[in-house]
Amino acid sequence: MPTVLLIEDDAESRRVTAELFTRDDWTILEAGDGEVGVSLALEHRPELVLCDLLMPKVNGFQVCRSIRQHLQRSRIVIVSGRDYGVDRASAIEAGADEYLVKPISWEILREVIDRVLPTVGDASPPTGPLPDFTPPSTRLRFWGVRGSIPVPGSSTVGYGGNTSCIEVRADGEIIVLDAGSGMRELGIALDEEFGARPIKLTVLISHTHWDHIQGLPFFRPAFNESNSIRILGYEGARAGLATILASQMETQFFPVSMPSAIDIEELRDMEFKIGKVRVEARFVNHPGICVGYRLSTTNGSIAYLPDNEPYDVLKTSLTTRDGSEREKAQAYAASARAKLVDFLRNVDVLIIDSQYTDEEYKKKIGWGHGSLSSVVSLALDAEARKLFLFHHDPGRDDKAVDTLVEGARMLVLESGKPMEVDAAREGAEVWLGARASAESYGSGGP
Ligand SMILES: [Zn+2]
Ligand SMILES: [Zn+2]
Repeated sequence: MPTVLLIEDDAESRRVTAELFTRDDWTILEAGDGEVGVSLALEHRPELVLCDLLMPKVNGFQVCRSIRQHLQRSRIVIVSGRDYGVDRASAIEAGADEYLVKPISWEILREVIDRVLPTVGDASPPTGPLPDFTPPSTRLRFWGVRGSIPVPGSSTVGYGGNTSCIEVRADGEIIVLDAGSGMRELGIALDEEFGARPIKLTVLISHTHWDHIQGLPFFRPAFNESNSIRILGYEGARAGLATILASQMETQFFPVSMPSAIDIEELRDMEFKIGKVRVEARFVNHPGICVGYRLSTTNGSIAYLPDNEPYDVLKTSLTTRDGSEREKAQAYAASARAKLVDFLRNVDVLIIDSQYTDEEYKKKIGWGHGSLSSVVSLALDAEARKLFLFHHDPGRDDKAVDTLVEGARMLVLESGKPMEVDAAREGAEVWLGARASAESYGSGGP
């Protein structure tokens, strides 16, 4: 039977509400304040949370936000003695599904429950992805945003120190972009969320540089045989994808070999589907074999180019050549850039390598990474809706990332175009589609 969590500091009102729920065989959990309420919610994942608005320690809005950050499936109803429109709006904005004014009768409750929880009473066990992973929303969460090497510590705690890993939930699929060190925490979260139910997901590998695969040996769901984990990527410059991924788990480097829940497939086509999600891949300008992906979901598109050097480098590095050769090189660079702009055209979310400032880049030409102004101008030309600076340099502390974002925003302002810019931050989520207006970017970390 479904579980309801009652969060209310007034014991008498809690008792009265609990009594209402006894008639339908609900399992009832009770919390006397918001703090206990949030921890009970995260522990028991109740179908329904009924929460008083005004409570000591943690108020109803805060409870909503905290629960929503971790649980999408639970329905939250705020109950209050006041009927201010602004309270109602703030509650919904904080993640509540409904706002009720006291006193509440069972008839009112039942009507609300039927509306927000249509499946209560359906005793069949959940199968496949959770309902919150199906349309109408596409959700993206950053688990690792750093380039090159993990850099934990007080100076990077704001944006996070883990290397590349992004989780996308769209059209009933779980798609993981790269397997950097952020993948470890993703694995823990998935295990907690799915419990005994099997996890099915697809990992898209951009390339096998260490910062994009080093989380795989620590991805807990891979060691559970009932899970199915498909890893897709392209053959490397010197060895196949499976060989490379397995080699980091060979005995010289790691005590446990590649788990059997993992199925590695080398891609040949540059366009394919994962369920209903259309994926287009494109080789990018980075040493070895490296691709960027563009995912087209029912609710919007996401482009991910974690490692990419602007094509302008071809112009610069070839300046020593003379005459016609230099012209040819410049023409090639211009055409390569134009093709990339086409690939990214009108994308909703662009996540792209912005490792260097323009100043740093001058000394790192040919290292395979992007610089701020080239990334912003590429995104503007492609008319991306939202740009996320990504693959932060390990030497860049939180303050320096802030400065980078400010610089990028200035460039956008000068362009007169409406693009939004942010730096990717560990734990941040982006919603596309129906929930896009409730985008919770920047709301805390994992
Ligand atoms: Zn990288
Ligand atoms: Zn790389």
